[in-house]
This record gives sequence, structure tokens and C-alpha cells, in this order.
Amino acid sequence: MRLTLVAAAIVAAFSSLPASAAGVDKLYVLYCGEASATDQSRWSPGVNVGVPIELSDNCYLIHHAQGWFLWDTGLADAVAATPEGVSGANGALRLKRTKTLAAQLDALGVKPADIKGMAISHTHPDHIGNVELFPQTMLYVQKAEYEWPGADNKPRFKPEHPVTLLEGDRDVFGDGTLVILSTPGHTPGHQSLLVRLPRTGEIVLTGDAVHFKSNWDNRRVPANNFNKEQTLASMQKLAETVSREEAQLWINHDKEQRDILKMAPEFYD
Ligand SMILES: [Zn+2]
Repeated sequence: MRLTLVAAAIVAAFSSLPASAAGVDKLYVLYCGEASATDQSRWSPGVNVGVPIELSDNCYLIHHAQGWFLWDTGLADAVAATPEGVSGANGALRLKRTKTLAAQLDALGVKPADIKGMAISHTHPDHIGNVELFPQTMLYVQKAEYEWPGADNKPRFKPEHPVTLLEGDRDVFGDGTLVILSTPGHTPGHQSLLVRLPRTGEIVLTGDAVHFKSNWDNRRVPANNFNKEQTLASMQKLAETVSREEAQLWINHDKEQRDILKMAPEFYD
């Protein structure tokens, strides 16, 4: 009887805690680089040929009651040492970064060692540039991406980096507030992320399952893509997730959308 009362009191105490004491409570959008291209049809074959485009490149720092989590790591901070930017994708792109990821984390008072978990949408250089800024952080990556041979057949990650290999979706903290979604196609183990915030609500972070809104609206698949059928199926999965969760879709490289988002140190809660 006494134990039952104690148990009931504990349950009552926890259920009266504010929502911010559990699950995800903050999301910061970090600047992780930018790109300009002279021909956007690289992403929309046959459409807007020769039309230039500017692309954003974001990282997202998420606070959960169990610790910090980083989604994507952007272009390597070393690129910031070249203010005019560097050439990418065999000259198709100009890539630059005017601020480092390290400086933005520092400004928020977050040390790399404070970041408990991280995931990358995929292994293109504008997403994995700073993975080794966090050598102790558990990396969540699809097995298909991890095992995809890199240039000269080299591994894509340092073998000593702590890793959790996924084969499908993963509820990272087991409470449904941060769910990695398997969305292959752009690369073999591409993934996206569903975030549930107490006030903002649900957000789906696309990674490069889609690059900008007109490609989303028209289901266009870029030229530089691993498997078109998988990409289309992954877009359908994201569309169903957005509809079921009444989620916002945040497209990483869509600069027009990025320009209306709050950037760190502001945050979404
Ligand atoms: Zn990208």
C-alpha cells in the first residue's frame, strides 16, 4: 500500500513537469556554407538550363533532455580560410563558407564534446565536412552509406569513429521526438530527420532527398543521383510523413526558404 502511494506520487511528480523537461526542446539552424552554380539544370535535368542558382547549406543543432544532437556538419571549416570560395563538383559549383561551425557552436556555449549524437544525411562533402570535429560523438549512419566505397575505394569515415549503423528508420532517444528516416536514392544510404518540437510542432529536415522547392513540387530528380526510383519513393515517403504529422518540410539547400528561417543564436522551441 505504502509503495503504491510512493509510486503514484512519483508518477504525479513527473507528469506535472513542463514539456521542456522531456524530449526535444530546441532547434538551432546553423550556417554551414553556401554554393553558387551557373546552371541549375544540374538538379532539374532539361529544366532551367543555363539559369544560375544560389544554394544554402545548413546544419541543425538540436537539444534533447538527454543531450545535444547535430544533424549534418556542412562544408569543412577549412573552406572558411578561402574567402572567395573553392571550386566543387568538377567546376559546376563555387562553394564557400564565411563562418565556421566551430565558431557558431562556441558562440552558443556548446563544446564539441558536449554533442552526444550526430547524424549526417549522406556523405557528400557539403554534409560531412566536419564529422571529425566531433571524434567522440556517436555517429548514426545507414549501413548502406557507411559501406559505400569512397574515392579510390577508401572508407568514407574513420574506422575509429564511434558509429551506430542503421538499416531503416531509428527513433534516436526512444521517445518519438527525433526520428531518423531512411530515404535512400540520392546516395545508397541517404537519410532525413523528423523533429517534434513542443511549440513549433513537427519539422522534417530533408537532407538532399530534394534540393529546392520547385524540384519538390515537380518531383524532379537531379543528374548526380544514385538511384532515381529510390529517390522518387523517398520523396513519396517524405510527402506521406509531412501529411501524417502535419509537419513543415525544411529543404536544406533551398536558399529562399532558408532566408525566412531564424538562424542561430535564435532558435525554434
Ligand atoms: Zn548537399
